[in-house]
Amino acid sequence: MSLFNKYDYNKHKNRENLFLFCAFILIPIYIGLCFLLFLNKRDVVAVTMDYKGKASIVLDNNQPGFTEEEITDVSFEEYGKLDELGRCTPAFACVGADLMPTEDRSSIGEVIPTGWVQNRYPGVVDSEPPFIYNRCHLIAYKLTGENANSQNLITGTRYMNVEGMLPYEDIVADYIKATGNHVMYRVTPVFEENNLLCRGVQMEAYSVEDNGEGVCFNVFCFNVQPGIDITYSDGSNVLGAGMEAAEDATVGNITTEKFAFHTDEELLQNVDYVVNRNTLKFHYIYCESVDEIYETNKIYYKGSREELIEQGYVPCKRCNP
Ligand SMILES: [Zn+2]
Repeated sequence: MSLFNKYDYNKHKNRENLFLFCAFILIPIYIGLCFLLFLNKRDVVAVTMDYKGKASIVLDNNQPGFTEEEITDVSFEEYGKLDELGRCTPAFACVGADLMPTEDRSSIGEVIPTGWVQNRYPGVVDSEPPFIYNRCHLIAYKLTGENANSQNLITGTRYMNVEGMLPYEDIVADYIKATGNHVMYRVTPVFEENNLLCRGVQMEAYSVEDNGEGVCFNVFCFNVQPGIDITYSDGSNVLGAGMEAAEDATVGNITTEKFAFHTDEELLQNVDYVVNRNTLKFHYIYCESVDEIYETNKIYYKGSREELIEQGYVPCKRCNP
């Protein structure tokens, strides 16, 4: 009896010890780790708030965060799954000459990344046509030859694509072409909370065979467009205060104001198609789907079908314009 009691007591004591161990050692360690992860995440995000006129800035003394285990001289490419909001997650690769494309790029227009609220800003966005957004490859086409891969395409401003990311993509591509070496390469889109448009991308690269001698960087490129105010929650955008858009010379009349037309007749005369700027589909004015489009998402378009298709818009399957 006493032996049994003792056993029971010990068992009880053991349980108590286990409880104390959990309460005072494991739980604080767990909380501490969570906090560190949180801080780590905040770090990149905090930085994104700080666009000061430079398309990109250096992070962590330009040292990329690849671990020993990650670094390899065998080419691979991995595109993270879209998250529950449909947003891209990091794209990661060991880029070698064997991954680089040998064929010309094909269309990527069918992919609609999150935050895609397309608008034209003639005279403000320096491209033709003057669209604010590009479908930005996380890992550039010239590095891994990915075309319409929705896990590798984000909504990025023309400015981020060309001024921010392109110079770094060129460094990596030129190095691989010149040496035949491999480059560890990771591009991480940074979304704040539930925003559909990322604040920017972190780009990390490290040349493998020469231990970072040839290529080594860790930078953040801002997803901004000078002169345009962007709402990151949904990607919508307007001309910034004090900015003036030039006459849009490339296509016919475009207006988002239905009330610019006073009568239905005027509307019919001045508008060839109604474009849904959200889905990028275009319709005949009388299409039933047009009634279902939010007024703010409509573009009343005067111009040809071919022009629309060329700009990446898709004809509606219901009204077949
Ligand atoms: Zn339609």
